[in-house]
Amino acid sequence: MTEQFDLECMRFAIKEARRSVHKADRVHPQVGAVVAHEGKRLASACHGDLGAPCDHAEFTVLEKVLENRVLVGCTVYTTLEPCTTRNHPKYPCVGHIIGHQVSRVVIGMLDPNQAITGKGILQLRKAGIAVELFPRDLMAEVEELNRHFIRQQAAQAAIVTGTAVKGTQYGFSSIFDSSAQDCVVVAQNLRTLISAGFLEHIGPVLERGTKVAIVLTTFEAMSAISEAARDHYIETIRDLTRFVGDLPEVSRKRLRICFHPGATSLSAMVRRDEHRERMVFTPKFATDTDPDNRVFCVVDRRDNREIYDRLTAHLTYIMQPSALTLETMAKRLGIK
Ligand SMILES: [Zn+2]
Repeated sequence: MTEQFDLECMRFAIKEARRSVHKADRVHPQVGAVVAHEGKRLASACHGDLGAPCDHAEFTVLEKVLENRVLVGCTVYTTLEPCTTRNHPKYPCVGHIIGHQVSRVVIGMLDPNQAITGKGILQLRKAGIAVELFPRDLMAEVEELNRHFIRQQAAQAAIVTGTAVKGTQYGFSSIFDSSAQDCVVVAQNLRTLISAGFLEHIGPVLERGTKVAIVLTTFEAMSAISEAARDHYIETIRDLTRFVGDLPEVSRKRLRICFHPGATSLSAMVRRDEHRERMVFTPKFATDTDPDNRVFCVVDRRDNREIYDRLTAHLTYIMQPSALTLETMAKRLGIK
């Protein structure tokens, strides 16, 4: 195999990456993957190819295009380090590559997501697969193509400190456990949480006596983002109105839902209890990137007073008495 052919395949993978299709709701990487054997390109794909906007390029080319083929002797050229973790029932791309018995993988850039960085390479090496990187100029091209993604991941890494824990089921259970007396949930439009079963979870929490506040951003702020964001928002208001309508009176009194534009910049779930105060904080850029790797920061007042106080001040600001109520918002959007 000539070095020339290798370079052609890398360039083709970058070309594929440029075609990536994404769900509009968050920032995804641009990824392209090519499979080649003895100087011939067998197949290629991009992120979100074949009408499936959540599918990874390596998964698509291996499982959908080449299906069950054993790929001994083949090289996979991928512009991003293959992932090592995905939510069940999805399977990480490293596993797909190993499963197909690929002999060599050439990678465009490391995954800037610190939950993955370097792990993809290590796991491939452990499986006896040769791993190489794109040459410097092509790597720079891939990084340029993914600059928004890299910036977001870097910002997330800066906030996530040694106290960060990975969320399970979006961390509901750890936040709304029986010692929580008072919880606040701040989100842009709550769509992701609602589809993860948030409302079903919150009903019993209210019944148990925990006070819950939900603060969302305003319709105007969401509409400015995109039409899809606007539609999601309306859907949320409809879901919340229905949810509140079905609540027993005593639970309804424990729930406050309000709207403030200041909620745009913060996604957080906060619990306060009698003995210790800690804030489980989900940075917005963390919720926007792959939920498979959602990270929560636990800010404990005892060892991080400054951040804790700053976040508390922000909560007071967005929950001020003049904040819009659900009733007003629903009326404004014509929802009954
Ligand atoms: Zn993947």
